[in-house]
Amino acid sequence: MIKKQIIEQEVSIYICDKCGKESYARLGYFTCEICGQLICRDCAVLFNWETLKYNSFEGDYPNSICKECWQKGHEEREELLKLKEEYDQKEKAIINKWKNKLKDLENENKIQEK
Ligand SMILES: [Zn+2]
Ligand SMILES: [Zn+2]
Repeated sequence: MIKKQIIEQEVSIYICDKCGKESYARLGYFTCEICGQLICRDCAVLFNWETLKYNSFEGDYPNSICKECWQKGHEEREELLKLKEEYDQKEKAIINKWKNKLKDLENENKIQEK
C-alpha cells in the first residue's frame, strides 16, 4: 500500500486541456498565457509578444497561447501589428531628426572654428 502511495505521488501525467493527449513528460506541453490551460504542441500557438511573430520552429518563440485564445485575439494582434509598424516608423523619424540636429550642430561648430 505504501509503495503504491509513493508511486502515485511521484508520477504525474500531463493531460492536454483541449484534446486530452496524455504524457508522462512535461516536455511538449505548454501553458496558455491567456486562459492558463495546459496544452499540447498540437493545440498551442508558439508566439513572441515582442516581435508578434508566431508558430515556426525557427526563431525565438518564448510565449504560448492555446489556439482558441489565439483565434479570439486575432483582431487585437492585427491592431498590435499596425501600432508596432507606426511606432517603428515614428521611432526612425525621431532618430533621424536627432542625427540631423547633431550634424547641424557639428557644422555650426566647424563654421565658428574657421
Ligand atoms: Zn492538445
Ligand atoms: Zn487559452
